[in-house]
Order: sequence, then C-alpha cells, then structure tokens
Amino acid sequence: MVYYKLLFSCETKNVEAISTGGTNYEWHISLVCSSCHTDINEIYFRGDDQVDVANSRGQCNFQMKCKSCAKMINITLEKFPDTVNVQEISKDIQIALFDCRGADPKSWNFQGLTVITPNGTVFNDADLTDTWVEYDEKAAEEVLIDKFKAYFQKSK
Ligand SMILES: [Zn+2]
Repeated sequence: MVYYKLLFSCETKNVEAISTGGTNYEWHISLVCSSCHTDINEIYFRGDDQVDVANSRGQCNFQMKCKSCAKMINITLEKFPDTVNVQEISKDIQIALFDCRGADPKSWNFQGLTVITPNGTVFNDADLTDTWVEYDEKAAEEVLIDKFKAYFQKSK
C-alpha cells in the first residue's frame, strides 16, 4: 500500500475553515504512471464512488488502465476531514489521504471548495486558483484567500 497525503497552505483573512463538503466532492487529480512514467491528465472521482478492483475482492474509488503500458491503476480516498480549520495555520494542513496503486498523484486541480467565515457565512464553489475575495455582509468584512497551494506527499 502506498499512501499519499494531500496538503495545502494559504494565506487567509476572516476565514475560519475550508471544506470539500464530504464524500460527494469530486476530486480532480493528475497522475503519473509508476511503471512507464506517462503523464495522466486529470482523472476524477468521488469518495463515495465504488469500483470493484480487478482480480481482487476489494473496492476502490477509481480504476483505470494506463494507456501506454496497460498497467492497472487504482485509487481510494482513505481519510478526509471534510472541513479544515484554517484560523491558526502554523504549518501545511492535510486535507486528504489517498491509497494510490500503480500511479503517483502529481497535482490536485482544486475546484468547488466551500469557504466558511468565523460568523458562519458560507461561500460555495470558491475558485482558489487565484486570489479569492468576497465580502461577508453579516460581519461587514472582507474575506480573502490568497496563495492557495496544494501538493502530495508520500506517507511513510
Ligand atoms: Zn504506464
């Protein structure tokens, strides 16, 4: 089993938490085949997708055959906190753990995240690829997320 942590960092203003919203969140991930090192651009799956693993009794969330070397790749979302508190960031925060077999995850094409402010205002479908700014009317404050970066790290 090869586990990969998905971590992120960002700068925030008046943000309490960032959320994927749960098992129906669609993860868009780019991979590299572990056997032939071919890039596999943006596959996607949900944490509640269930696929039977070929030649096994197990299940995973996503399965494909590498188009170059025909090796089987399968991915399972092992752990996800749904909502991550970002108020006191001192180090990079883990948002998910994946079991990836046959491929290494390279990048998370994050989209459709939910942002929650300290007074409970919720902004859905936030695009964090660039500086994200909104206005929290209840608090009469600007809400901001900047420099959102995410990366995978092999877990020992
Ligand atoms: Zn391959």
